Amino acid sequence: MKKLKYLFLSALFLSVSAFAQDQNEKKERQPGHTNNNKFKQLYDEFSTPNMYRAASGAPGSAYYQQQADYKMDIQLDDTNAKLYGFETITYTNNSPDNLNYLWVQLDQNMRAKTSLTPLIQDDAAQPADTPGNFANKYLTDAFDGGFNIQEVKDTKGNALPHMINQTMMRVEMPSVLKSGESFSFSIKWWYNINDHVNGRGRSGYEYFPEDDNRAYVIAQFYPRMAVYNDVEGWQNSQFWGRDEFALPFGNFEVNITVPEDHILDGTGKLTNRKDVFSKEMMKRYEQAKKSYDEPVVIVTQDEAIAKLSTKATKTKTWKLYAENVRDFGFATSRRYIWDMMSVKIGNKDVMAVSLYGKEGNPLWEDWSTKAVASTLKSYSRMTFDYPYHKAISVHAKEQGMEYPMICWNYGRPDKDGNYSDRTKFGMMSVIIHEVGHNFFPMIVNSDERQWTWMDEGLNTFVQYVAEQDFGKWYPDALSEGQTAYPSRRGPAANIVRYMGGDQDYIAPIMTKGLNTYQFGNNAYGKPGTALNILRETVMGPELFDYAFREYSNRWMFKHPTPEDFFRTMEDASAFDLDWYWRGWFYTTDYVDIGVKEVKKYFVSNEPNAEIKKMAEQRGMKLSDLPPLVFFVEEGTDDFDTNLKGKSALENSKTLNEYVMDNFTAEERAKIKEPKFFYKVTFEKPGGLVMPIIVEYTYADGTSKTETYPAQIWRLNDKEVSKTLATEKEIVSITVDPKLETADVDTSNNSWPREMKASEFDNFKQQNKN
Ligand SMILES: [Zn+2]
Repeated sequence: MKKLKYLFLSALFLSVSAFAQDQNEKKERQPGHTNNNKFKQLYDEFSTPNMYRAASGAPGSAYYQQQADYKMDIQLDDTNAKLYGFETITYTNNSPDNLNYLWVQLDQNMRAKTSLTPLIQDDAAQPADTPGNFANKYLTDAFDGGFNIQEVKDTKGNALPHMINQTMMRVEMPSVLKSGESFSFSIKWWYNINDHVNGRGRSGYEYFPEDDNRAYVIAQFYPRMAVYNDVEGWQNSQFWGRDEFALPFGNFEVNITVPEDHILDGTGKLTNRKDVFSKEMMKRYEQAKKSYDEPVVIVTQDEAIAKLSTKATKTKTWKLYAENVRDFGFATSRRYIWDMMSVKIGNKDVMAVSLYGKEGNPLWEDWSTKAVASTLKSYSRMTFDYPYHKAISVHAKEQGMEYPMICWNYGRPDKDGNYSDRTKFGMMSVIIHEVGHNFFPMIVNSDERQWTWMDEGLNTFVQYVAEQDFGKWYPDALSEGQTAYPSRRGPAANIVRYMGGDQDYIAPIMTKGLNTYQFGNNAYGKPGTALNILRETVMGPELFDYAFREYSNRWMFKHPTPEDFFRTMEDASAFDLDWYWRGWFYTTDYVDIGVKEVKKYFVSNEPNAEIKKMAEQRGMKLSDLPPLVFFVEEGTDDFDTNLKGKSALENSKTLNEYVMDNFTAEERAKIKEPKFFYKVTFEKPGGLVMPIIVEYTYADGTSKTETYPAQIWRLNDKEVSKTLATEKEIVSITVDPKLETADVDTSNNSWPREMKASEFDNFKQQNKN
């Protein structure tokens, strides 16, 4: 009889839930209804794993990459701002495929007169423009900065047929380049160097009219091999000026001839230091090798200033050799001050280096080299020991750009040497960021042309960690009243404005940079923050850091794709992250989770109205019901105020009897006696699924934080409930109390609803102004 009653009751509950399920299924079965479950695995989006790229996210057993080695003689004509080069490329085909032609990148052609870049800009006239911009646009002919390709020849001196399509040059070889074979050919070229301050661009010179000198930061200055691989074939997507580069690794032997009074630094080891350094410079250099705390000045400000009044007519050749780099850049001027400091990375000494004009001081002599050293330590901890022997930070106006071992950075005090916090932290952050790019994408060599976020996003994430380290290691760098480095990107709250903004101007992270809106937020801010949230809030640093290091090490000196990253993070952590990648990287959904409703219950021995109604509907007598523990909601008609303040055992005779019958005296002594029962309903107006982080605060002032994993949303994307049994009364409930999920609307995050204007309303209000 007892059994029957239970069956009857469970049938009653089952039929209620079956009805709800039935409704859901009806929706699912509508024709054309696709499976939009947010926890669906990414099989549709990912390509099938293969011999080249394994399902684990590691390089596959047949993984290969091409090699491009360069020998170059470069000549700077400082008087006319022209650069001349003769290069020999040896290209090794490690792919299993035979190649009929090679693709070479001619990035400078973006500045050619025939460039299509200006023609794809939507440039409706603005209400006002700077005189410089105006003059460039309407008063002068476009600058002619394209490559002049003088010859393309094989090693026997025979001209090779070649065709130039905008920024890409196809070179035909005398015969098919078979798998495993190498082919050497040479290119002779020159181009007009652009003014990077007035014409923009990531390479060029800054002109100083007061002393008639230039400071050159030179990059993508030579015809560079395109990448050929298993995912793109030839990556010959054009350079429009925005999306950066895809480059194979190789060894570089580069001789650069510049005026004798210039100093120069660039990618690679200086192999003729004794020829280009004075005795005094050599002495200071030896000191720098042993200085781990303070930079040693190799060329002083006074020495740099002394050179400004004359110009050398003779030249000097600086010889650099770099192994296993994907690119080459250099900086040269007679204006530069030069300092260096050693930094221990693992058991190796690395030289942290800075080059800057006098206008960079006092900021640059104080902080540049220390920021370089600090960055190398932080990134090495998060990834792998920095493998190169030096890292250089060059001061260049309005620049922030990276190359192997060398980068250009902005941050200039005013003429009197004063600077704002904005200038100071802008300078430190850009140095940390650009030096950090040595790791992503110079060493973990992703395809920047296609996946902007893989270099900028991963790098912005580690930059945040490195900035926080820098603030701790160099508290003197902080301003008065600051206790931590004021990072602009990384904290969840800082991405709220972007993610909660106008959906018409937001693109998924998995979009080619050229085609996205709000480039900085799309390529840097959102992916950087997404990874920070993943680390600090979703996975926890222990699981995340191991997996992130695994990714970095698996793909060090190789070419990863987004899937290799996504897969490795799961493979190394046993953390199913498909939902996270899907939501944050493939959609423009945002986070908005709140408390919809809280109901308070007490336990009773009397059937509540709901049960009575259910029994009536089914034609059951209340006496037919098995022994039950009833919940009665406070404030409803059948609520008896006598129930308040007593435990469940006190209020329910049935429960008491059950406990007496089924628990030993010893067990009874340990039994919990909850007095309060709450059904908390959480709502999710936002599209992103995220863990629900909830802080419950009790009447005695104590609180407890509970995190419900994101999977709580797997069967209902709109709302979910939890029932809590507590000994103490709950007085408030707050979702995401530390603002760590980038919740765009916090007005629904607390119960009882706070009366004050929410942050979101403030933010909306601000947007209107
Ligand atoms: Zn960057």
